[in-house]
Amino acid sequence: MLTENTIPNEEPVLAVGIILPEDEKREIILTIPGDGSYALQCDGADPIALLPGASIRVHLDENGRLRVHTPAAGKEIRTVDSVMIAADEQTDIGPRSGLVAHDIIAGREFHWKKFIDVPLPGTVEIRAVDSTLVMINHVRFEHYLMCVATSEMGAECPQALIEAQTIAARSWMLANVEKKHRSLGMDVCNDDCCQRYQGTLYMTEQSRAGAEATWGQTLLYDGSVCDARYSKSCGGVMEAYETIWGGEKVPYLIVKRDAPDDDKASLPQLQNDVVFHEWVSSVPHAFCSPHVIAESELKRYLGGVDEEGEYYRWHVTLTQREMTEQLNRSLKLNAAVILEIQPLVRGGSGRVSRLAIHFRRKDGVLSEHIVEGDVAIRRALHPDFLFSAAFEVQALAGERDDSPSTFSISGCGWGHGVGLCQIGALGMALEGYDSHAIVAHYYPGSSLKKLY
Ligand SMILES: [Zn+2]
Ligand SMILES: [Zn+2]
Repeated sequence: MLTENTIPNEEPVLAVGIILPEDEKREIILTIPGDGSYALQCDGADPIALLPGASIRVHLDENGRLRVHTPAAGKEIRTVDSVMIAADEQTDIGPRSGLVAHDIIAGREFHWKKFIDVPLPGTVEIRAVDSTLVMINHVRFEHYLMCVATSEMGAECPQALIEAQTIAARSWMLANVEKKHRSLGMDVCNDDCCQRYQGTLYMTEQSRAGAEATWGQTLLYDGSVCDARYSKSCGGVMEAYETIWGGEKVPYLIVKRDAPDDDKASLPQLQNDVVFHEWVSSVPHAFCSPHVIAESELKRYLGGVDEEGEYYRWHVTLTQREMTEQLNRSLKLNAAVILEIQPLVRGGSGRVSRLAIHFRRKDGVLSEHIVEGDVAIRRALHPDFLFSAAFEVQALAGERDDSPSTFSISGCGWGHGVGLCQIGALGMALEGYDSHAIVAHYYPGSSLKKLY
């Protein structure tokens, strides 16, 4: 586990939650790889060697203790409080290598939630918490980074982007601001709640090279590790930390044009609706703009994008009826007609942090509802989550009365837009910038240090 408020001087071991109490698991099945050398340790007793290919079943009995079924370990069943299954230290990591844990939840809390088999490097720990099982993967930090760096990348991703992404992920993790699962002895969980980790399933030779080339390199600012945020596309200007998450300003997460530092183009004042209208109606040059990389080409480099998708500038249209139903569902408005959707406060990239919705209630009374915050605003306006909060809404008048018939939403970018812009970093890499230049651009004022 990471030590709080300490910058490590040797490679840490990360504790990643694979099964959490909310999964309500009472049985876990694991398979030892055919070529692996593994040992089972129960309640801290001497380790017992496990045969290659053996399967291990752990279930929770009615007394809250673990029953371990290990046909290959000499003894059929043992009743214990904790189980550790460790790979021999010589065991190296590679794509799809490791102990396989079966039926692990991916997409916890999402409608697409599914169960998958996950190959895990390092050591696996199982114990009981509140009459369910939890499982923690203790994994060398650099191995963890090899597993997460390319989980969102396509096969042709340039090495400089993978390296920059690895440096950002290393720094973000070591800054360890969120600590959502610390009370369970976990640094992070395996899902989007923290960072998606599916063991070595999506590890590639490229991601291994990315970690090896940047081993231990971490972004620092004023003696502390940088909380290196990133998102898919800033839309041409990076957003400031406090616009999205509130609180104090963060000196290296600031409003900045996503273009070369010597670019003569000045920073537009996108807090202003009129200036923002011009910005969203045009396609200005930026590292993440289609001038550098056509959006139809993105799929070759980045996973999770559509070939037809438009991310730099996008448009969504909802009819009066669709918008009313959407807002009644997401905000419980009880609206009969939506009259106006009005941004009240914008950040430096144009992202709306405070939004007013004017509507007529079903009982005829005129009313107003305020929505605050990037996530709440994006969730309110669209069933699939609006790409970003950098948008304007044009209400087109209806024929029958003065209420709008259609709401046309035009926007910039994808995600919160703070820190590293992944499509922009891809553009920089394709233009020949190295990983150090990329992170220096997205985290201005930070410095890179090799911690171990
Ligand atoms: Zn989490
Ligand atoms: Zn960008």
